[in-house]
Amino acid sequence: MPELPEVETIKNDLRELVVGAEIERAEVLDGRLVEAPSQEEFIRRLEGVRITGARRRAKHLIVELDSGDALVFQLKIGGQLLLVPPVEEPTKNVMLVLHLDGGRRLFLRDQTEFSRARLLDQEELEQRLADLGPEPFSEEFTAEYLKEKIGSRRAQIKALLLDQKVVSGIGNIYVDEILFDARLHPRRKANTLSEEEWERLHAAIRKNLAAGVEHRGTTVRLYRDVLNRPGGHQNFLRVFEREGEECLGCGGKVVREKVAGRGTYFCPACQSENGSDGEQRLPLG
Ligand SMILES: [Zn+2]
Repeated sequence: MPELPEVETIKNDLRELVVGAEIERAEVLDGRLVEAPSQEEFIRRLEGVRITGARRRAKHLIVELDSGDALVFQLKIGGQLLLVPPVEEPTKNVMLVLHLDGGRRLFLRDQTEFSRARLLDQEELEQRLADLGPEPFSEEFTAEYLKEKIGSRRAQIKALLLDQKVVSGIGNIYVDEILFDARLHPRRKANTLSEEEWERLHAAIRKNLAAGVEHRGTTVRLYRDVLNRPGGHQNFLRVFEREGEECLGCGGKVVREKVAGRGTYFCPACQSENGSDGEQRLPLG
């Protein structure tokens, strides 16, 4: 599922490749894609408008249009936006085609069919984004903020980090990497974290997401950029889907357990459930 680094990469690609283009026509091939407005209105309001910008908020990809509308995508589990040409035309699982001027087309392909889109005016867009927590790279997002926001909660830290109202953009891949990096057990209750652990967690969030952006995202299965290229950050994962493999921190074994309802990878030795030391092991990576 595209998380912050993947959506950020797609956003940057759109800025480079399609901003300035006109949408001559929109073709919806899977009506489940369009959450709002009606499919007819969605198609009508996209006809003949120019793409003026692209941005990201949390895991939402926002395409700005000269009509004042914003086309907002949630790429959910397997959503891909592909520019044809140069990418070869996809033949299966196409949910939307935006026909651009100059003979190019932007395809939304999703073999899981969970991707969704909305066409919103500015007010609707603000409402839609209003409940999201701060962006991890914003000034507002500090260790102090995290502690104030969730430091009295008895919930498991993994579940809280996945909550987009707490901090936006983190999903199931990066959260496991972040917790490993911060040497926090995914089941640790937030109200047991020490000052130093909040600092480590905050630093690990920024460091892991920044590395994901730098490597143009993580492709474990379906993620592709706009030119159909996989990301590179999968080569840097230290626990995610490494069950049974050697921990790169201590040489022990990475395990998989269900935490917060999600398959969760961690090292029980590096990430002690009772909280820890913090000092005994060398910083990782
Ligand atoms: Zn370990």
